[in-house]
Amino acid sequence: MEEKIQSKITRLKKEKNAIILAHYYQRDEVQELADFIGDSLALSIEASKTDADIIVFCGVKFMAETAKILSPQKKVILPVIDAGCPLADMATAEKVLNMKNEIGDVSIVSYVNTNVDVKMVSDICCTSANAINVVKSLEAKKILFVPDKHLGEYVKQNVADKEIYLFDGYCLVHDSFTRKDIQDLLKIHPEAKVCVHPESPMEVIELADFIGSTAGIINYCIKNNAKEFIIATESGIVFELKRQAPDKTFYTLGSKSICANMKKTTLKDVLNALEREVYEIILTDEQIQKAKKPIERMISIKRQ
Ligand code: SF4
Repeated sequence: MEEKIQSKITRLKKEKNAIILAHYYQRDEVQELADFIGDSLALSIEASKTDADIIVFCGVKFMAETAKILSPQKKVILPVIDAGCPLADMATAEKVLNMKNEIGDVSIVSYVNTNVDVKMVSDICCTSANAINVVKSLEAKKILFVPDKHLGEYVKQNVADKEIYLFDGYCLVHDSFTRKDIQDLLKIHPEAKVCVHPESPMEVIELADFIGSTAGIINYCIKNNAKEFIIATESGIVFELKRQAPDKTFYTLGSKSICANMKKTTLKDVLNALEREVYEIILTDEQIQKAKKPIERMISIKRQ
């Protein structure tokens, strides 16, 4: 009998001392066999603590790059070569530096959802969970927030004493959510609590009972007494929500909640990644050293 794909993956993982990381937005079957599930930075930090030789990152390119930056000695593999993040791709180092030159005397805060070239020119990184704290922690009065304008606007609303300039980028998934989408769901499920990722437009954030990162939303839903939740983020999160809170019901914004890039990775791709060790993330020492600084600076602030 032919060996099942899952057992082949498990066997190869052991043979090659590899670990599989899956972002919360990945397909259910990919999350199911992963060693770690989480949001992008947490996964990269987790992987850096292991003694694995190979990291297979089931996510999008900037995530695998971040894993490589934090684990330069390990081989980091992205199973699907064109699994990219349109939000990250909107910002280039050149565009960001041009904005910096126009504004003058500004600190660049870049969301982890950026490619390596943008991290290299950033003063500090942030996640959706710590963006407000990161910006508040800076002495600089002028901030250029890159690349997500909605997350930047949310930070702006919560940090009164800084001049915050926004790069004009957005996540195709979260940007598509509207106030009406939430109101329509609330008409059908009036008791549901509304959880919103801050990559969403302000008109959606305004309707939220809880605003937070993917990990933050999961924690909120587990701890909250409500039985029903409207989830305004990518639909893959429901796999972990159902695993941790099987007695609760979660409503997503249907087809709008699906990130095509996050769904590109299939079990076949994971197997191929382990068999052929493709597609390896290659970064130069200079890229790693320069991009690591803003990430480490953020991590040190998180611990304060
Ligand atoms: S959900 Fe949005 S931010 Fe995340 S990978 Fe897809 S496009 Fe990028």
